[in-house]
Amino acid sequence: MSNKKSVTTLILIWMGVGVVVGSLINAFASDVAFIQDYIVNGLFHVIGAMFISALKMLVVPLVTFSLICGVYGLGDVSKLGRVGIKAFGLFMLTTALAITVAITLAVIVGPGQGFDLTTATQQSFTPPPAPPLTDVIINLIPSNPVAAFAEGEMLQIIFFTILFAICILMIGEPGRAIAEGAEKLNLVMMQVVTVVMHVAPLGVFALMAKTFSLQGIGLILPMISYFSVVAIALLLHLTGTLMLLVKLLGKVSPLIFIKKMRAAQIFAFSTASSNATIPVTLTSVEKRVGVDNSTASFVVPFGATINMDGTAIMQGVATVFIANVYGIELGIMGYLTVIGMAVLASIGTAGVPGVGLIMLAMVFNQVGLPVEGIALIIGVDRLLDMMRTAVNVTGDAAITTIIARSEGTLNMETFNDPNAGTVEEVHLPHRRT
Ligand code: ASP
Repeated sequence: MSNKKSVTTLILIWMGVGVVVGSLINAFASDVAFIQDYIVNGLFHVIGAMFISALKMLVVPLVTFSLICGVYGLGDVSKLGRVGIKAFGLFMLTTALAITVAITLAVIVGPGQGFDLTTATQQSFTPPPAPPLTDVIINLIPSNPVAAFAEGEMLQIIFFTILFAICILMIGEPGRAIAEGAEKLNLVMMQVVTVVMHVAPLGVFALMAKTFSLQGIGLILPMISYFSVVAIALLLHLTGTLMLLVKLLGKVSPLIFIKKMRAAQIFAFSTASSNATIPVTLTSVEKRVGVDNSTASFVVPFGATINMDGTAIMQGVATVFIANVYGIELGIMGYLTVIGMAVLASIGTAGVPGVGLIMLAMVFNQVGLPVEGIALIIGVDRLLDMMRTAVNVTGDAAITTIIARSEGTLNMETFNDPNAGTVEEVHLPHRRT
């Protein structure tokens, strides 16, 4: 056991191998039909897509059972309201901080100044209509819960499940059996997560290899200024703002916290989806960081749906970049509008790949920037999407930890144990003879 590599280390290694293999294919075999058809769009695509489906498969049942246990475990509805308000406030605060830092950095560096529009990679971009805010609010309530579960509408699922769990509490004794059933189902789902984790290295490899063989590193060159400002702002938010909050509000070591987030970050990076990463974020904050199930089961999926710090950062920098490219002066009011819009947009942005760019159209519309400008940044968006999703997920986990700490429910013994909750601790039963 001891010389066996941990699953997280294996995933990290295979992720690196995927990047190298993909970049090599992109550099030397991008027009070899056999490799493109059978390896990149065949093998890598199939394994990667199967792996993402396997992750998504876990999300709805895991969130549902875990949330029922969480609300039931609280035993007190007022605590739920308190946690909800704290979570919402902190999510909005971190998103606003994130985009403010991003815009400030972008205004100082000035990406896109002197950018030659004619040499830019011109791709067409037609934005789908962004949902109006009123719809986002109305749609919190599922008119048909079964449809909400079938479609994986996270906010609707959270709303219905919380209501359902509160009512289990309200009916008293007859509800106990349902809650105990949900607890057992939750245990089973946790085990399903563990099983899926064992094939994760392969899945992550395929996703990385495919992305890099299609995109290559070279694509970022013409966009280097935009790309670097987003990357630096993401790093600043991750290592600065979030860690400061973990230290000041959470009163725990940011270093230990960030180490325990590694698996969730890798999954977020390779899937570019906060939603698909929910199972890993949830198990990481509960088993590795020591957050209680009641807080984690509610705050993590809620955050994956409405908290998008990394996405807001990209939107802030993109706004400054496109304004520079088109020579449009936004002014302080323009930037304030962007901050407000990006915070609102993050609520309406689903945690799936690429949506951040679609919501950017809404921000551009609001401040009068040309929406077709998005075509300029679309080429590098996949890689930035991966990076910002890792930041989004770390933000969700940081706030979850801060809230658990403020509620006095963070298990410090688990937090301080470097090996707590590693996947290899959980044995697959019936494997040994
Ligand atoms: N991919 C991001 C997420 O899932 C959303 C986005 O920025 O497109 O968190």
